[in-house]
Amino acid sequence: MDTLIPTINRLQEVFLTVGADVIQLPQIVVVGSQSSGKSSVLESLVGRDFLPRGSGIVTRRPLVLQLVHVVPLQDRLKTENGNGVNQNAHINYPGVKAEEWGTFLHCKNQIFADFQEIRQEIITETERTSGDNKGISPEPIYLKIFSPKVLNLTLVDLPGITKVPVGEQPEDIEAQVQEMILSFISNPNCLILAVSPANSDLATSDALKLARDVDPDGRRTLLVVSKLDLMDAGTDALEVLLGRVIPVKLGIIGVVNRSQHDINTHKSLEDSMRDEQAFLQRHYPSLASRASSRYLAKTLSRLLMHHIRDCLPQLKTRVTVLSAQYQARLKGYGQPVEDQSATLLQIVTKFASDYCHTIEGTARYIQTSELCGGARICYIFHETFGRTLQSIDPLGGLSELDILTAIRNATGPRPALFVPEVSFELLVKRQIKRLEEPSLRCVELVHEELQRIIQHCSSYSTQELLRFPKLHDSIVEVVTGLLRKRLPITNDMVHNLVSIELAYINTKHPDFMDAAQVSASVNSQQAEATDGGKRWKNEKVAEDRIPAAGFGSPSKGQAINFLDTAVPASRKLSAKEQRDCEVIQRLINSYFLIVRQSIQDSVPKTVMHFLVNFVKEHLQSELVGQLYKQPLLQELLIESQDTAQQRTEVAQMLEALKKANNIISEIRETHLW
Ligand code: GDP
Ligand code: MG
Repeated sequence: MDTLIPTINRLQEVFLTVGADVIQLPQIVVVGSQSSGKSSVLESLVGRDFLPRGSGIVTRRPLVLQLVHVVPLQDRLKTENGNGVNQNAHINYPGVKAEEWGTFLHCKNQIFADFQEIRQEIITETERTSGDNKGISPEPIYLKIFSPKVLNLTLVDLPGITKVPVGEQPEDIEAQVQEMILSFISNPNCLILAVSPANSDLATSDALKLARDVDPDGRRTLLVVSKLDLMDAGTDALEVLLGRVIPVKLGIIGVVNRSQHDINTHKSLEDSMRDEQAFLQRHYPSLASRASSRYLAKTLSRLLMHHIRDCLPQLKTRVTVLSAQYQARLKGYGQPVEDQSATLLQIVTKFASDYCHTIEGTARYIQTSELCGGARICYIFHETFGRTLQSIDPLGGLSELDILTAIRNATGPRPALFVPEVSFELLVKRQIKRLEEPSLRCVELVHEELQRIIQHCSSYSTQELLRFPKLHDSIVEVVTGLLRKRLPITNDMVHNLVSIELAYINTKHPDFMDAAQVSASVNSQQAEATDGGKRWKNEKVAEDRIPAAGFGSPSKGQAINFLDTAVPASRKLSAKEQRDCEVIQRLINSYFLIVRQSIQDSVPKTVMHFLVNFVKEHLQSELVGQLYKQPLLQELLIESQDTAQQRTEVAQMLEALKKANNIISEIRETHLW
């Protein structure tokens, strides 16, 4: 499997850069009857002696063996000293000073650098759950082997298929083992190594039968024929190996593992492989190149490589997408500043135009979550301000008593013949004054909105501003300053609008009611009510006669019907007084409506002219005037730490992605076999 290691390592780099999940190589699971040589086959694949092997039932719990590739010790030590690049930064080294080592899930913190100890630990752990008398357990032992010589790959060693219970084994041992095996090999991402000894009939192979159950098409089953050296004299496995007995799509590979004697005499794996090669040459010369443990390893590598190639297009797409994203981000950060004056001018101009566009509603980034900019100003004018004015009662806060008192005060010592005009003026001015407060509030609201647009522009549209926090703050300051300067001017103007109305009550206004007409109409109405309405009069008299009711609490019945407000309890109005009140009220109402309409019209115009349009027109020159100064440039254009750093990071990422892309292309084009 050595050939795959560099490929996987380079891919690993790609995965690390693009943050994709590592390609899941298929798990390799060995299946076969007891003592068929499963553990032996696995060992030769890993290239190390560490599994308990032997006659009878030795493997009694599943062993999930995770191989983890690590860089060689000397490179690791370099990295720890701070030199060199840590290629395997994703793996947590427990600070191990060994070239190869193992750890178990059941005793995580213990490092096994000696493979004999690993074998002993497997035996001990097996006995812990399964007793020491041939009992089995479906609970896997998890072992990780870290080594520079392995692939990131998971292998699973399973107890062999057995039929007759021995020792402490339960009656249904066969069913139990089968279930355990099936639970592993039914995983579609698992490659089945069906191990069958050459000295028993292939047609009776339990391994092949189980494999067929879960993989009927044979797409992930490889047949390993072991013990070629143990066949009866005069027989050979040629027919079987050629696939003439039972064909197996992925291949049939014959191997010779170490015999029990070899194990007892501690024959090394290297010696065993050399002898295996010699044996095959002697007995199966035509097949020598397509058998052996080494060939098995190669075949597995090829299968894994195919799997990797299948995964590459998806990885490639991901790299391409990421490249595009990072490219866009890099562009967003802008180039490092070369010409400071030009950069500043450009940013300031962009901000000013974004600001104006937001007001005009032509901004590139249109908010959808809430009204903003010009639309909100429009809302303030017509909804907030307009409605507030409309809701003001022309006669609000003005009681009849107030009116009467005003009339009397205005006539002085003479009893008046006519309703005095002076009282009308006095009272109507009092009502007009009430328009000032909502008008000033309107200015305030628009001012607030203009302030908000600054935030909107600096965070949404002018991305470049984020690069230069100093410049950002200064721009905000200048615009805020400009707005603040315009606020009192606009307020004064609005205040003046109301003052102008107060300055001259134009009773000749074409829309204003003629006082004489009003007076006449009120008189005639009352006369009508008195003459033609006997019933009304009678009722009125009757009511008048009720003594206490009217005095204690002014009730509706006592209110004279054409007056809205209740008559003060302490005093009744004379008919003339009622008439005068009515006249004044009608006049105030009529005049107030004229003024209100005019204010409702002129306040927005004033705000637009003195505040909004002024700011729009002078923003750019104000910004340039205050910020475009040679000694300031350097300071304003200091990039934020974040931007400078992010630009570097993004550039590095892009470089890494480019490299990743090359690696993928290379792997896709390599024809290893
Ligand atoms: P498992 O029960 O399937 O895991 O089988 P093991 O790997 O434990 O092997 C069972 C026994 O068969 C051991 O004593 C091995 O030495 C022996 N054995 C396995 N493969 C071969 C082989 O190819 N040739 C010979 N001569 N003995 C083998
Ligand atoms: Mg075994």
